[in-house]
Amino acid sequence: MMIRLLDEATISKIAAGEIIENPASIVKELVENSIDAGADNILIEIRGESTDFIKVSDNGSGFSEEDLNIAFLRHSTSKLEKIEDLEKIRTLGFRGEALASISNISKIKLMTKREEDLAGNSLVIENGKIIKKNKIGMPKGTTFVITDVFYNTPVRKKFLRKDLTEINNIIDTVQKIALSNNNIKFTLIKDGKTILNTGSDKDPINRIFSILGSEIASSLNEGSFESENYKIKGFFSDNKTFRSNRDSQYIFVNGRFIKNINISRAVEKKYHSLIPLNRYPVFVLYIDIDPKLIDVNIHPKKNEIKISNENILNAILTEIVEEVIYPNRSIREIEIK
Ligand code: ADP
Ligand code: MG
Repeated sequence: MMIRLLDEATISKIAAGEIIENPASIVKELVENSIDAGADNILIEIRGESTDFIKVSDNGSGFSEEDLNIAFLRHSTSKLEKIEDLEKIRTLGFRGEALASISNISKIKLMTKREEDLAGNSLVIENGKIIKKNKIGMPKGTTFVITDVFYNTPVRKKFLRKDLTEINNIIDTVQKIALSNNNIKFTLIKDGKTILNTGSDKDPINRIFSILGSEIASSLNEGSFESENYKIKGFFSDNKTFRSNRDSQYIFVNGRFIKNINISRAVEKKYHSLIPLNRYPVFVLYIDIDPKLIDVNIHPKKNEIKISNENILNAILTEIVEEVIYPNRSIREIEIK
């Protein structure tokens, strides 16, 4: 056996695979970048099969000329300078890996312009390198067009699931992001048909209505809690609305969709006597925590996080749910901070 150093191209593709698992990961990373760029209007368009065509347009800050030259290198980010910054991270991105990864496994066209620049730039990027660059006129913002996803990593392409599943993954991804960003307008178009349009309505329950539909929206009751470390707002289904899995449980921590079985269980606790065995309540839960109390950097996809004093948070959640689903019980003081 001989030990060899992998060449740079292979390393890039392996690294890309950790972040870009499927077309939905591309949508997630691009839309999160648009949010981080301060956009309040984001349009996502897909055409054909899930790997054919993905377009994300935003009205955010745009890229400067200098940024364009390094944005597709691995670990290039404008959001983090030193490791201590991780403690106060408020942006969705910070690892500087998404654009590099996407550019290694697909073909990219990018159009971008900042407010202060006279002209924008139009670029073609392949294999992590800019192969074409032109000046163009356009309004402030950024548009990414991604085509031929996984064209140069056939094994990865082969392991994608049924195209319908991958498309549904994309829709699910956009729904989750739209649910957690009430101040941004989202539109999702598939083959010319509008799948989702949140409008500019900022009211959370209207947003839930436009994304999850009337059956869920009308079953939800609101509860909230606020202290120095936590700000929590949740919408919890009544005892007639439940599901056979936890897919309709939406947990957002500091604007980031996460999965966390302990949080789910803390919410479900008070439902046990109200809904059948092995059924799960539907809820949309927004938790804002001091970034010092969470570690988002435990997984490249960032959908799992570590929360310190998780049991305090969970006790608060159980208490909120109790007040929401048994509103007639006298309200007890929540002693925990
Ligand atoms: P990260 O989001 O972790 O910083 P990315 O690879 O996703 O890393 O993006 C690299 C950089 O490119 C970002 O830090 C940001 O400066 C810039 N960028 C990416 N997308 C956009 C966008 N839609 N508008 C403006 N700047 C962007
Ligand atoms: Mg990013």
